Amino acid sequence: MLDPRFILENVELVQENCDIRGVKADVARYAALETKRRELQQEVEELSRKANEVSKSIGKAKDDAEREARKEEGRALREQKDDKQSEIDTIVAEATTIYSHIPNMTHPDSPRGGEEDSRELRRGAVEVPKMSFPVQDHVELGEQHKLIDLEGGARIAGHGFYFLQNEAVLLELALQQFAVEYLMKEGFIPTITPDLARGEIVQGVGFVPRGPETQIYSVENFDLNLVATAEITLGGLYAGQVIDEEDLPIKLCGISHCYRTEAGAAGRQSRGLYRVHQFTKIEMFAFTTPEQSEDMHNYFCDLECGLFDELGIPYRVIDIATGDLGGPAYRKFDLEAWMPGRGHGGEYGEVTSTSNCTDYQARRLNIRYKTKGEKGTNFVHTLNGTAIAVSRALIAIMENCQHADGSIMVPEVLQKWVGKERIGAID
Ligand code: AMP
Repeated sequence: MLDPRFILENVELVQENCDIRGVKADVARYAALETKRRELQQEVEELSRKANEVSKSIGKAKDDAEREARKEEGRALREQKDDKQSEIDTIVAEATTIYSHIPNMTHPDSPRGGEEDSRELRRGAVEVPKMSFPVQDHVELGEQHKLIDLEGGARIAGHGFYFLQNEAVLLELALQQFAVEYLMKEGFIPTITPDLARGEIVQGVGFVPRGPETQIYSVENFDLNLVATAEITLGGLYAGQVIDEEDLPIKLCGISHCYRTEAGAAGRQSRGLYRVHQFTKIEMFAFTTPEQSEDMHNYFCDLECGLFDELGIPYRVIDIATGDLGGPAYRKFDLEAWMPGRGHGGEYGEVTSTSNCTDYQARRLNIRYKTKGEKGTNFVHTLNGTAIAVSRALIAIMENCQHADGSIMVPEVLQKWVGKERIGAID
């Protein structure tokens, strides 16, 4: 959420920001409604004050006629107050709808435009591999080595679910160990989070918990939702709390499953493990002061690059354009890994995403910090970033590390957990 006062003082700027982000929101209408609400609120308070005065004066009336007159006056004032209050309720309902659609402000360096306008910032240390043999994609490799059972998953839970078996399980666990170890060395607190969260938390982080456009699975008869990302639970962990400034930044490394309906995603390239309904993710999350958040965002991006460099996967870093930022992000960087089996002859596919949400989520979740010796509190800044989204990392590893005989080299950093150098090696 933006600060309502900031919106009222910067109507044109906020409208311009909605426009460059492709968000339909009538900011002037919101400002007019909010101004009217404030006026009416004052009137309600004044009417309430007068009604109280009148009701106190009833006892002092000199005769029945005066008592009745004062009672009548009190009733009239209360009626006026109730009318104004219901006017306020109507205004608030409309203003809240507009307000909830107004996205975060945008970093001045974010490229303007839609998905195609996102800008490549740099490439990773590893070159795209030259493969002089018929390349297989991860689905074919998965079948060959009995690693991925998509049909079994579809029979049990529907298209987009899958079983992992054999070395794929060891790779999944190894990727988790690798990412957690890497982040713990950087001072992140390892955190296994619930896979479900209440609607208020889901909404506070910026997701829509229920309704036709939701990406979230909800549990019938309970105020519970399967999380789409540990960003939801990690952000929610400090909801309603005040953190001492000296404890910032707080860096969490969350481990959770992620569940996504992927409504409306049909038709996009989503073969195999690329776009599934359930996957494991190691997520970075930080609470910072406003002064710390930009450096933290660059640091998250560097950590994502470091992880994929160590895995030996080629990638590029993308500065996401305004039209593709979503609601809460002030700036967003994605890593896209080279996937040799994707498209015709290989394509880059998104493997990580990191966002600086400034105080947009904190305002909704009411997470504040307090500076020692100073009165009052301020909202923290929140940041999130994917360390490893396992199913996409598996695609990148299987496809980039394949050999002509179909065997797959296990990245050196994962070998100690997988227990072998190669999957499907002919001994
Ligand atoms: P997001 O939280 O949407 O920024 O996604 C974080 C990361 O999770 C992405 O960069 C992808 O690597 C991965 N991811 C997102 N959606 C899916 C999905 N439906 N299936 C598999 N991986 C996904």
